[in-house]
Amino acid sequence: MKPGNAKPLDPAQVRPDFPVLSRQVHGKPLVYLDSANTGQKPRVVIDAVEGYFSRFNANVARAVHQLGEEATSAYEGARDTLTAFLGARHRDELVLTSGTTMAINLVAYSYALPRLKPGDSILVTTMEHHANIVPWQLVAERTGATLKVAPINESGELIVDRFIEMLTPDVKLAGFTHVSNVLGTINPVRQLARACRERGIASLVDGSQAAPHLPLDVQSIGCDFYVITGHKMAGPTGTGVLWARPEHLEAMPPFFGGGDMIRKVSFDGTTFADPPHKFEAGTPNIAGFVGLGAAATYLSGLGMDRIAATEQALLDYATEALQQVPGLRIVGQAAHKAAVISFLIDGVQSHDLATMLDLEGVAVRSGHHCAHPLMDFYGVPSTARASLAFYNTREEVDRLVAAILKVCKLLR
Ligand code: PLP
Repeated sequence: MKPGNAKPLDPAQVRPDFPVLSRQVHGKPLVYLDSANTGQKPRVVIDAVEGYFSRFNANVARAVHQLGEEATSAYEGARDTLTAFLGARHRDELVLTSGTTMAINLVAYSYALPRLKPGDSILVTTMEHHANIVPWQLVAERTGATLKVAPINESGELIVDRFIEMLTPDVKLAGFTHVSNVLGTINPVRQLARACRERGIASLVDGSQAAPHLPLDVQSIGCDFYVITGHKMAGPTGTGVLWARPEHLEAMPPFFGGGDMIRKVSFDGTTFADPPHKFEAGTPNIAGFVGLGAAATYLSGLGMDRIAATEQALLDYATEALQQVPGLRIVGQAAHKAAVISFLIDGVQSHDLATMLDLEGVAVRSGHHCAHPLMDFYGVPSTARASLAFYNTREEVDRLVAAILKVCKLLR
């Protein structure tokens, strides 16, 4: 998943696409370094959402009138765009969800719950987001299954040999992140998915932090389930995708019941629509998916390989610059990383640091990043995290470093 020789993007050309980047915060130009939390939205996405509401607001699938047809075609068009974005074989392999959290819960309750029995296990890794831990704990509790955890090393890399050794016959599903939201580690997902497949174990890849940064191809990854969330990849909140192998979607029972997911309802029983619609009960987030379709088109237009190359160069620059700050330690030094830098500074609380940086116009996140077990592994309650995107610049990294140096003097 190295970006190869793609030509980096020119930030001067992409930054004007993002209206929010030109605003001031506390009287200073905004430096937005919190894209792993949520990404900024380009004008084309904002316009697409606005266009839906102002020109063809209607419900999908139910209306025969012109507006309904336009809304349906835009909504289903987004499914097509996302199919290409993920490298899926067919649009029916994509269930549109409210985000990664819902997508993983859907797999937990619809795929895992009916299959798990006492003595079975689910394998995850130490670096998972709570969204890829808690749903498995909930279904494990209900079925008598156990959650197992594959370890990482101090650099924040999955110990792949251990992961593979832990794929014992009791393991029925393995869930692992493609890119860690805290460490930036890029996991060797092809290798992990292959090891699962060879043992007849289903694999779910959390692609929340990969979709904004890397070219994706679910077919070549070879997993069973791949999940993404729209708001981290330039799209609106409340949107996401579960990609699944068609045989799984066929076999899985519906998770939510309601309108739009049925073929025929009677008081004697209900027959369900074909996948993916049997998993999409109720009126969906139409505006959100119109926006997400525009986001995927925008990112693909820039070129995910060029986005990856741009961010890789910026990551190298930022890593080098931050390492010059006295007392600063980067948490997560994997050989293959996306542009996420968690760090600690001697004698400075992450929360105080983030609060003071905000006064300098610099937005970073501090906290446990929804990864308590990972914080426990490093023996810290929280870290500060600067997460970069292709729209960030070296000057912004310099502003971050200068602001850290300034506020550390005040905080120590
Ligand atoms: N998984 C990872 C790796 C994440 O970074 C996040 C969001 O921070 C999630 C899952 C949760 O995604 P959502 O915002 O769609 O619930």
